[in-house]
This record gives sequence, C-alpha cells and structure tokens, in this order.
Amino acid sequence: MTVPKAPLWHPFTQHATEPVPLPVARTEGAFLVTEDGRRILDAISSWWVITHGHRHPAIAAAIRAATERLDQVIFAGFTHEPAERLAEALVRLAPPGLARVFLSDSGSTSVEVALKMALGYFRNIGAPRRRIAVMEHGYHGDTIGAMSVGARGIFTAAYEPLLFSVDPIPFPEEGREQATLDALEAVCREGDTAALVVEPLVLGAGGMRTYRPAVLAELRRICTCHGVLLVADEVMTGWGRTGTLFACEAAGITPDILCTSKGLTGGFLPLAATLCREEIFAAHLSSDRGRTFFHSSSFTANPIACAAALANIAVWEQEPVAERVTHLARMQEERIARFRGDRRFTGVRRTGTIAALDLAVPDAGYLAEAGPRLRAFFLARNILLRPLGNVIYVLPPYCVTGADLDRIYDAVAEAPEVLAVRSGAVAA
Ligand code: PMP
Repeated sequence: MTVPKAPLWHPFTQHATEPVPLPVARTEGAFLVTEDGRRILDAISSWWVITHGHRHPAIAAAIRAATERLDQVIFAGFTHEPAERLAEALVRLAPPGLARVFLSDSGSTSVEVALKMALGYFRNIGAPRRRIAVMEHGYHGDTIGAMSVGARGIFTAAYEPLLFSVDPIPFPEEGREQATLDALEAVCREGDTAALVVEPLVLGAGGMRTYRPAVLAELRRICTCHGVLLVADEVMTGWGRTGTLFACEAAGITPDILCTSKGLTGGFLPLAATLCREEIFAAHLSSDRGRTFFHSSSFTANPIACAAALANIAVWEQEPVAERVTHLARMQEERIARFRGDRRFTGVRRTGTIAALDLAVPDAGYLAEAGPRLRAFFLARNILLRPLGNVIYVLPPYCVTGADLDRIYDAVAEAPEVLAVRSGAVAA
C-alpha cells in the first residue's frame, strides 16, 4: 500500500491503490493542461460543470470586475445587486411559474434546500407530510439529506443508519413505464408524501439512464393530482445539457421546486439556486417566527459567483449557445451511430448533448475492475473519461470540436478490446 505524502484527501479516490492525482496547471476550452504540458481532453466537463468551455473569457472578466467592488456579504438583512439581478434572470429563464429563488453553493445544498422547502410547506399550511418519493437509481448529492433521497449502495452504505427512509419508485425503463406511474400513484394515495424528487430525463451518477419526456409529464400529472410537490433536480441536466435550457422544458412542465448548480456559472465558480412556486414561499410568510425559512450557509449568494452566473446568462443571450448545443447533440448522435448493433455494447443512448454506452461486462458495478482500467486507458490517450462502472459516457463542454469527438470515440471503440469483451461476454 502506498501512503501519499501530500496532506490533501481527494474525493472518490482510493489513495492506496490509485495513481497520484495529476497536477493541472492551466485550463483552456475543452482541455486541462498538466504541469508537465500534457493536454487532456475534458470529455466529462470536469464532473459536468463546464458548459461553454473552460475559462470563458467573458465570465472571467465579469469575475475580475466584481472583485473590484465586492466580496462575501452577509445575506440576512442585506442584499446586493448581483444576487437581485440573478434571481430576476433565473425567474425569467426557468419554466414559467417558478417565482422565488433561494441561493446556496453546491448541487447538494440546493437539494437540501428543496427538501426543507417541501417539508416546511406542508407544516406551514397546517397539514404536515413526512414521506418523500424518489426514483430508483437517482443521485442528488453527498450530504446526508441528498444521499437519503438518492439510490442506496456503495456510495451510501457507510452512512446508512443516518439516512432517512423514502419511497422509491422504479426507474421508467422503456416499455415498463406504466409500472413507474402505478408505483407513484400507490405511494401518493397513502397521503403522507410531501414530494417526489427526480432528475428530469437523465439520471446522471446512477448510470446516465434516460427516460422519455412523456413520462416526466405523467409524473407531473400524478403529483398535481395528489397535491405532491414535484422537485426537479436539474443540477446536471440544466444549462443545455439535454438540448433545452432546462430538461423540464422538453416535457412542457413546471416543477414546484427546481434545483440548479454546475452550469449556472458556466462551471466557473460554486453556486446553486433552488427555485420554487409562489405558494411555497407564501406559506413561509407569517408574523409567527416559526415560519422563517431556517436555512443558510456562510457563502449564500456569494456576489462574485452571482456575477459569474450573470455573465454566463449573458453568454447564453449574446452567443449562439443554443445552436452550439444543437450542433453538439447532432455530432454526438453521428458518433454513437457506429456502436448501435455492436453486441459488445448492451446499450447506446443519447439525450441532447449527453451520450452513454454500456459495455457488456459481467461485473458491471461501480467498483468493478472495468472502471479504473478504462479510466487509465483513456488517460493514456490524454482523454478524461470516468466510466460509471461499465457505462462509458461522453459529456463534453459545448466548445468541443468534431475532431475532438472523433478522438474520444476512436478510443471508446477500443474499450471492448481493453477489457477483452467479445459479443456480450468477457473472454476467459
Ligand atoms: N444532483 C445531481 C443530479 C448531480 O448530478 C449532482 C452532482 N453530480 C448533485 C446533485 C450534487 O451536486 P454537488 O456535487 O455540487 O453537491
């Protein structure tokens, strides 16, 4: 066992067995440049946060300008222009009907806020509800509340006694979607469900599993029918990833609560927002002190991060970002076409700019050998890809070129050889 000398403890890293983390000296466009000059193609947008490309100049400039006049400011009893303008812009851009914006600083906290908003709402209207419905294979972050509403497994096992219980509904596999809807109906009928928490259209860390917008529309309908709040976790799917600004748009629905982070600042700085309908905010208005929303974090509404988010929104409005997203989606479809029908892959799919391929390996778990072996193989080709078990997914920034994608998919085409996969089985 090798014990690293440096004091840093990295996330999702087995320090005893994995290679020492590579030092990144610079980032530009779709690339990470290491201290020894390697240019590594960031095919997963540095954990899905970078949208336009690393270090977009307009966002960098806005950050520099903001630091000339502001740093962190207490956000109770005080406010500032970047946050005020950002909230207005988000209400304008989000699905219609979302009227209030609570700012925090990570995807996980945006989900924690959503859970508190939902549970608080029912308490405030005098009809408390305690249960939360969730979708099988969901992932919503690594804080305890967010973990509670995510899939249970190796990520959560160590903390299991601390997590609260939820009601999972099955993932809506194509052809078995009715079972999902029936399960939600049954859970809602019990009458104690405050909210359904889902990632719209694509379940990210749970294996880039995709489902149809029509299913999301049906989930919305059932929630409405039972007065259950629909929480859309758009932390990964927001800001164009699935082809529209927010994934909910494809289903033509407005959730009651929407979580966004990652691409909110173009991936430049940590920031998150939880948007909700007016009724949820209104239920917290009362001279009764108990109805104050008891949640904050020191860096809530960080002005520099808000300025970065405003600059990101300006990029969306002033540059042809929507066209880039459409173009990237088309290029992804062309590249994955060659893998359809290849029996060494059991699944090939795409939603918007996100593509995923399932390798036919017998041990497909997240901790299976396939993941680290493939990661090392891609890195040797200067490509950053981190398969989720046997699922290779490509989720690049929107500035990626056709030639970059060719490089990525030429490497993906070699992946079955790397693991000696032949037509649905690993060779002995
Ligand atoms: N929700 C979803 C759908 C996510 O993909 C993630 C992060 N991958 C989170 C929540 C948590 O976000 P963060 O890592 O910023 O806390």
